[in-house]
Amino acid sequence: MSSPPWQGRPVWAEIDLDALAHNVTVLRERAAPARLCAVVKANAYGHGAVEVARAAVQAGAERLAVICVDEGIQLRRAGLRAPILVLGFTPEAQARDVVAHALTPSVHDPALADALSREAARANVDQPVHLEVETGLNRHGLVPDTLVPAAERMRALPRIVIEGLFTHFAAAEEGDKTFTRQQFQRLVDAHTRLPWIPLRHCAATASVLDNPEMRLELVRTGLGLYGYHPAPRCGVDVPLQRVLSLKSRVVRVSALPPGATVGYGRTWRAELPATVALVMAGYADGLMRRLSGRAQVLIRGERAPIAGRVAMDMCMVDVTHIEGVSAGDEVVLLGEQGSDRIDADDLATWADSISWEILAGVRERVPRLYLRGGRVVATSTLNGPESRA
Ligand SMILES: *Cc1c(COP(=O)(O)O)cnc(C)c1O
Repeated sequence: MSSPPWQGRPVWAEIDLDALAHNVTVLRERAAPARLCAVVKANAYGHGAVEVARAAVQAGAERLAVICVDEGIQLRRAGLRAPILVLGFTPEAQARDVVAHALTPSVHDPALADALSREAARANVDQPVHLEVETGLNRHGLVPDTLVPAAERMRALPRIVIEGLFTHFAAAEEGDKTFTRQQFQRLVDAHTRLPWIPLRHCAATASVLDNPEMRLELVRTGLGLYGYHPAPRCGVDVPLQRVLSLKSRVVRVSALPPGATVGYGRTWRAELPATVALVMAGYADGLMRRLSGRAQVLIRGERAPIAGRVAMDMCMVDVTHIEGVSAGDEVVLLGEQGSDRIDADDLATWADSISWEILAGVRERVPRLYLRGGRVVATSTLNGPESRA
């Protein structure tokens, strides 16, 4: 597939909605009979929350999950109707927004439950909530001894409906599942004390892949939707397809004499005559500065190293060894070109990071082009969405 035309500043992300639908399908099959909640927090891990949420629901996701109320409101404003779980901490002051936008928060604080109950009574609606059990991550869950009386008390509040009980694993992608099994058991034990709560959930992508016995009633998959396995040995029998590519174009090619340096801090120096290409992607687009002198990109089907420091808005690439590089050539920062591919796991290795951070790091100002059947069906830029479907 040749790149679809993008006429603006030459950096863009291509989001393959067919790959996303494929991933939803295989993860649903793996999780069945549990239902799938598509985790679209952080702008759908950089892929674009609204388009991804729509495509995921269309492919069979029954629920969506975000971290904060604002992310939920964004989806509601775009017309999404599926239940939206707010997994993070919700301050009491946002109780009215939760009710007004029919969000389903995780309640970490009894005061939030009281506020939600008041707002829901005022609006004359039922307010579903989920409760997080602390099982070992030690963030914002409630330890079972506190949770059980809190749940009983919340249950009695007008209009509050406790719909789910969940936990989140600390080391689910590791090969040794001992701690994960302990966490799972703590959740199951807590539920035996609150058996009237209909939904239990704990599995994110790693556990859907490695521990299907932990699927319970609902799974919350993020990374897998976007085509990545959480760890090299995790669920490799489940074929996932990469969804996001990050591309750019060469803007200018310069011949440098020996001794010339490139970029801030002069960290790269031409020892021999060199050819460098200017590429319009920098750390404010998601190409982390840590990748300076470490990452490679694809040009004309070959790998070229980043020369010198990645700047905020651009970087330089050493193309001395590649024949005929010229302005306008496609540059793949993340994705496939010819027979080669650079993916978020490669970038994560070069940046001492993880694929989650690489993907979620693709910034808002990078235009997103959404593809189906290899054709652009929608675009989204800082100036808003535009549908071409
Ligand atoms: C982000 C998140 C997930 C999704 O995790 P993946 O590993 O990306 O599948 C699930 N549950 C919670 C609570 C999360 O914060």
